[in-house]
Amino acid sequence: MDLTWSDAEEAFRAEARGWLTEHLAAWRDGLGGEPLSGDTREGFGQHLVWERDLHTGGWAAVSWPTEVGGRGASLWEWLIFEEEYYRAGCPPRVTQNGIFLLAPTVFEFGTPEQQSHVLPRMAAADDLWCQGWSEPNAGSDLASLAARAERTDGGWRLTGQKTWTTRGAFCTHLFGLFRTEPGSERHRGLSYLLVPLDTPGVTVRGFGRLDGDEGFAEVFFEDAFLADDALPGGVVLGEVGQGWSVAMATTGSERGLTLRSPGRFLATAGRLIERYAQDPQPRLRERVIDAWMRAEAYGLFTLDSVTRLSGGAAMGAESSINKVWWSELDCDLHEIALELLGADAEVEGPWSKGWQFSLSGPIYAGTNEIQRNIAAERVLGLPRK
Ligand SMILES: Cc1cc2nc3c(=O)[nH]c(=O)nc-3n(C[C@H](O)[C@H](O)[C@H](O)COP(=O)(O)OP(=O)(O)OC[C@H]3O[C@@H](n4cnc5c(N)ncnc54)[C@H](O)[C@@H]3O)c2cc1C
Repeated sequence: MDLTWSDAEEAFRAEARGWLTEHLAAWRDGLGGEPLSGDTREGFGQHLVWERDLHTGGWAAVSWPTEVGGRGASLWEWLIFEEEYYRAGCPPRVTQNGIFLLAPTVFEFGTPEQQSHVLPRMAAADDLWCQGWSEPNAGSDLASLAARAERTDGGWRLTGQKTWTTRGAFCTHLFGLFRTEPGSERHRGLSYLLVPLDTPGVTVRGFGRLDGDEGFAEVFFEDAFLADDALPGGVVLGEVGQGWSVAMATTGSERGLTLRSPGRFLATAGRLIERYAQDPQPRLRERVIDAWMRAEAYGLFTLDSVTRLSGGAAMGAESSINKVWWSELDCDLHEIALELLGADAEVEGPWSKGWQFSLSGPIYAGTNEIQRNIAAERVLGLPRK
């Protein structure tokens, strides 16, 4: 494998670095202080200003075709952009559940009309998408979900409840899984619906996390009528009754390539090394080096994944191994930093906030216990019992 970047890719990197450096400084100056968390209402508003500036510059969704709001860049260039994004210290993407989870699924399963409506509005952060899968009694065992959509004249009647909907209280639209075949069980009879959250009968109730931010919501559907033409091209993504297969494509993106690119962890590892160099503590040296090597290894592994994907392969169940790797790496990077900082960890807020969020990594996108089960059965071919 040739690990060197071409001249054109280096030029792309320089262009991305220049734009991000200049615009990040302008955004921060405009705020007149440190940005608030994007998981608070006010902070979400601040981050939307940033997201819309990214879109104006053509950087909101670099690997998408230009006709739907992207930059027409290759997957390699997208990896370069992500490296530069996190290296510059740009903020977490509050549009990520749309751009990195739903969008790849819209490319794969959406009709041309759905694609040309949903994607440009998503890239421009005009429509803000949240993920409505989990329910009070359906988390790891998602196939036990109970929210229903009953077929009726000209649309669907929705009943049930979703929970843990990240930033749901600030979003405009939800992509959700609903049981559309009465009496169906488990993975059968589900459909993947696209729901405007201002549909009458839909109530979104935000609630706080342990860290105080209100980044979660519960979403209630009380006989809500979702018209077939609520969105151009229709509200069902993929075939009616095939929602499970469509959802599995989304999980491939969530656990695999798009949600957590190596750039994020390489930047954190770089900052850890810098912090260590300021105050070397030999007892932590091996762990710092090990974590840095694991971030580098993730970067190299991703080059391999992109090579395979560019050749037409699909991510598949291997994305579960990916997810265990990046989520455990994130916990370790932050834990080591807190040990290094000692009591200063309280003062150096970003490390302790980052550590709190890293703890959720082994839970969201499907818990790591479940990912290990999937890897054992579907990648290694081990028996279920
Ligand atoms: C930060 C964050 C953001 C999230 N955002 C969203 C979102 O936007 N939309 C959404 O729909 N959901 C979201 N979730 C919910 C997430 O998908 C669920 O928390 C997750 O699927 C686990 O479900 P649960 O919380 O019900 O735990 P449970 O399923 O009750 O699991 C509890 C424990 O039992 C273990 N366990 C369960 N079954 C097995 C098994 N078969 N084998 C071994 N161990 C098992 C689990 O690993 C876990 O440790 C988010 C969660 C977090 C933490």
